[in-house]
Amino acid sequence: MKLCSACLLGIRCRYDGASKPDPKVINMAKLDALVPICPEQLGGLPTPRRPNEIRSKKVVTDLEDDVTHQFNRGAEECLNIAKSLGITEAIMKQNSPSCGCGKIHDGTFSGRIIKGDGITTALLKKNGINVITEEDL
Ligand code: SF4
Repeated sequence: MKLCSACLLGIRCRYDGASKPDPKVINMAKLDALVPICPEQLGGLPTPRRPNEIRSKKVVTDLEDDVTHQFNRGAEECLNIAKSLGITEAIMKQNSPSCGCGKIHDGTFSGRIIKGDGITTALLKKNGINVITEEDL
């Protein structure tokens, strides 16, 4: 059993109300139990919502609203799900400010990618959960 970013499984939870189905992830779901999580929804943000990016130690929308609290809350919820189900692996959506693993947007809403982890991925890793992305499959 693994945690999985819900948008990769075709669930329409992205900021723009769309999904990002990945054929490799969906195939994997036929062989293994993937538990869909969307940290941003679990943190209390609506769908659709403003785009968000990590800037310094905060998460902000493109209108400069501070949504760090909701991102942290969503990350804690995902960790709680992992702990309660004994899950030690996660497949997360690359580049996302919540789910990205090794790559995230640079905080300027310009499309530029930099090294870094999303808020949920960082918390999962800190707690010993092995995180990969759809790009690693
Ligand atoms: Fe997908 Fe994660 Fe963004 Fe939710 S927070 S839409 S699961 S990338």
